[in-house]
Amino acid sequence: MPMSAYQVLLPLPLPQAFDYLPADGRPVQAERIGCRVRVPFGSRELVGIVAGIAPAEARAELRPLLAQLDPEPLFHGELLQSLRWLARYTHAPPGEVLATALPAALRRGEPLPDTHAWAWQLTEAGHTALPRLRVGQPQRLATLLQAGPRDEDALDTAAGRGWRSAARALERRGLAVRSAIPAHTLAPAPSAIAPVANAEQQAAIAAVRDAAQAGFAPLLLDGVTGSGKTEVYLQAIAECLARGRQALVLVPEIGLTPQMLARFRARLGVPVHALHSGLNDNERARVWTAAWRGEARVVVGTRSAVFTPLPDAGLIVVDEEHDGSYKQLDGIRYHARDFALVRGKALAVPVLLGSATPSLESLANARGGRYAHLRLSQRAGAAQPPTVRVLDVRKRPLQAGLSPELLAAIHGALDAGGQVLVFKNRRGYAPVLLCHDCGWSAQCPRCSTPASGTPMTVHGGGRRLQCHHCGARRPVPPACPDCGGLALQPQGVGTERLEEWLTQQFADVPVLRVDRGSTRRRDALAALLAGLGARPGILVGTQMLAKGHDLPQLTLVAVVGVDEGLFSADFRAHEKLAQLLIQVAGRAGRAERRGTVVLQTHHPEHPLLQLLVHGGYHAFADSELAQRAAAGFPPFAHLALLRAEARHADPPLQFLQAAKDLLRSAGADTGIELHGPLPAPMPRRAGYQRAQLLLSSPQRGALHAALDAALPALRALPEGRRLRWSLDVDPVDL
Ligand code: ADP
Ligand code: ZN
Ligand code: ZN
Repeated sequence: MPMSAYQVLLPLPLPQAFDYLPADGRPVQAERIGCRVRVPFGSRELVGIVAGIAPAEARAELRPLLAQLDPEPLFHGELLQSLRWLARYTHAPPGEVLATALPAALRRGEPLPDTHAWAWQLTEAGHTALPRLRVGQPQRLATLLQAGPRDEDALDTAAGRGWRSAARALERRGLAVRSAIPAHTLAPAPSAIAPVANAEQQAAIAAVRDAAQAGFAPLLLDGVTGSGKTEVYLQAIAECLARGRQALVLVPEIGLTPQMLARFRARLGVPVHALHSGLNDNERARVWTAAWRGEARVVVGTRSAVFTPLPDAGLIVVDEEHDGSYKQLDGIRYHARDFALVRGKALAVPVLLGSATPSLESLANARGGRYAHLRLSQRAGAAQPPTVRVLDVRKRPLQAGLSPELLAAIHGALDAGGQVLVFKNRRGYAPVLLCHDCGWSAQCPRCSTPASGTPMTVHGGGRRLQCHHCGARRPVPPACPDCGGLALQPQGVGTERLEEWLTQQFADVPVLRVDRGSTRRRDALAALLAGLGARPGILVGTQMLAKGHDLPQLTLVAVVGVDEGLFSADFRAHEKLAQLLIQVAGRAGRAERRGTVVLQTHHPEHPLLQLLVHGGYHAFADSELAQRAAAGFPPFAHLALLRAEARHADPPLQFLQAAKDLLRSAGADTGIELHGPLPAPMPRRAGYQRAQLLLSSPQRGALHAALDAALPALRALPEGRRLRWSLDVDPVDL
């Protein structure tokens, strides 16, 4: 008898689906498309997604499914369709793309979790007892609950540390109870009211409203730091909620702070679900499922939150759309901002991209009329734009990399009661360990650049060495390995050493270091800043401080040690540096106090600094776009990068040469250009020799056509079996 079968996409590095018969001889049902199933594969069991129905034919050899895992499709029509688009665009195996889009617990085949929220509320006895409770934490919590049940997430932000023990104390006395309630029935009263939007904000909010009427529209909210972009998001989200729709907000990894979530929760009057790398598997699966059930109305998350199911989608916001953390650098190499636009189109909802320093891609789209260009040209409220000074330090004596003028400025700001941020984009104690007797320096044994080795960074106050490229660590040797001398000296200044030095110089104020080393956990930074409060003090930090926590007392931002970025070979280096400088500068003077930015440099005449200081980001962007157009780089060309690595140097080059031959014949009449194969900018990392082949074309379509034509043969190349290789469409690092 002819029988049809399920086409199942499995998390395997293979492009095709596999056919399985239904379990128990039941008929095939089209409603199963988008559901998870457990299937036998060789001697293994895998969890896959039903992607279609195979045509009827004799299929006695097929194996049946082991289990159906979902009562309803996990991937609704739109998400399945968008993810299949993503697989085609990234030229990645569709089964792996679908698996990437699922939280790990669901990927493993675990059942959909319970998405009830846990809420606390006063009992009748609690309400009666409230006026007579002794002042203290239980009493404060009871007062908070007087207005109605509050869920635990909301209490985490509203009730302060230690509320849980207060809650249990109330529970023991029969005054409060904890119960599971459907998340969407929670409607915490907004505790903050919206400021009156200014004219530019109103225009932006109206543009989103009009776009929502029409369906999909990309909008670029191009607003200087502190201009009230977040306020525009909040009001646009409030309107989206009022239409009965869900909103998804993407934020960069460092932008999702407790402070930011608290601001959303205080304003929106619905539970705000956060999705980020700090959650465990169960928590992630819960938020994903709550969105899938339509219970989560607002999801705020980092990169992978772009895969959140949105059955009632109304709006997608991408905050700081230029941020590098939106690009996934391994596995499925997607760009969350770009995928958000694809989903917005499929969902027929507006996508609002916000930034003070838009990516050149988005700016070009806005200027070409493909995106609506919404501008916020002034800081909101009372805040003034900071004044910027370029400090020429050529021939000046430097201590820990700081000039006397800069030190005077720091003293001045502290004396006036302000806080100071010293920005230095170099983690660790010192970038190099040098032997003063013979010139030996500590190099990573596993990494190297074309010109030389890569120095290991000194950490731990001078005791440890660490490679920032591969993570290798070892203790600082007691003596020079080359000459046996004892004159090993840390050279140069990293944030640790800067902190040490500033602590000595400014003994009467707190000096806090903020970088990945000092604040590994998400809340650690919040606690550190809360400890500082509004007192005068100094923050020493890397780019972690460029965005995120609002620091109202910050009046001086001192930028030191950015000169290397002026001369980098990467075609995006200037864009990244300009964005970083503007973002860091934007931290100064966000409240009533006017801020100052001092940029200390050995290259005060450099055109990038001149343009930024005198013309602002847009003047820089104009000039940079003109250069990109002339050089044929994105956004005026589309790139893809084939990378290969192996223990020895030859196999990657041989594989990429073979790939090049295939691509050249596949793309013969399409005008794609092939550059390489060449050693990667860092030709050896973690002991692997690395090479790359760059594909470029003015036409996106031509690039993809060539890849489509060449990839089957490329995947079959025998040279590819002996090494690791990957394809990156729209690479950010070349
Ligand atoms: P951005 O996201 O552009 O950095 P925010 O939305 O965080 O800006 O706004 C900066 C500050 O200005 C915040 O403290 C915010 O509350 C305030 N603000 C925003 N819009 C207004 C407004 N229309 N009137 C008064 N204050 C505002
Ligand atoms: Zn030596
Ligand atoms: Zn290394």
